[in-house]
Amino acid sequence: MAFLDGWRFCPRCGGDLAAADGRLRCSSCGERYWGNSVPGAQAVIVRDGRVLLGRRREDPGAGRWDLPGGFLEEGEDALAALHREVLEETGLSIENRDFLGAWNERYWNRTVLCLTWLAIVVGGEEGAGDDLVELRWFDPDERPRGDELAFGSFDEILSLWAARHEHS
Ligand SMILES: [Zn+2]
Repeated sequence: MAFLDGWRFCPRCGGDLAAADGRLRCSSCGERYWGNSVPGAQAVIVRDGRVLLGRRREDPGAGRWDLPGGFLEEGEDALAALHREVLEETGLSIENRDFLGAWNERYWNRTVLCLTWLAIVVGGEEGAGDDLVELRWFDPDERPRGDELAFGSFDEILSLWAARHEHS
């Protein structure tokens, strides 16, 4: 299901919405709505050859392992969002290293464009944020896989990390 499926009335003025060119347009005030992907920033945080994952408290993916990160706020710099979200979820200050790539991930009825960086810890005091049950460091060979991970793209992302033999 796409984000705009089922939208009938303009959230701004209550006018009727009409589909046009992959978007919706209000027949009354003219406002247009797109179902764009939502940008998110996440980090593969590495220390002593291990990766830091957090176990999610809530769905989607409750009880499964997640990469620290979160959604960008409106107009926020992507790296600022990365550092802010990682600090909130782990208590740690990080330094981002290589950009690993961007993955599309389903999150309820939205698609999240997950911008993913490799990162190292430079400070802070480790502690799980409210959204997580626990934090844990994993060796490459002992990392969670498949259904143990919160999102489908994480196997590929963690495999990329494991193949690089990053030791920071
Ligand atoms: Zn309107």
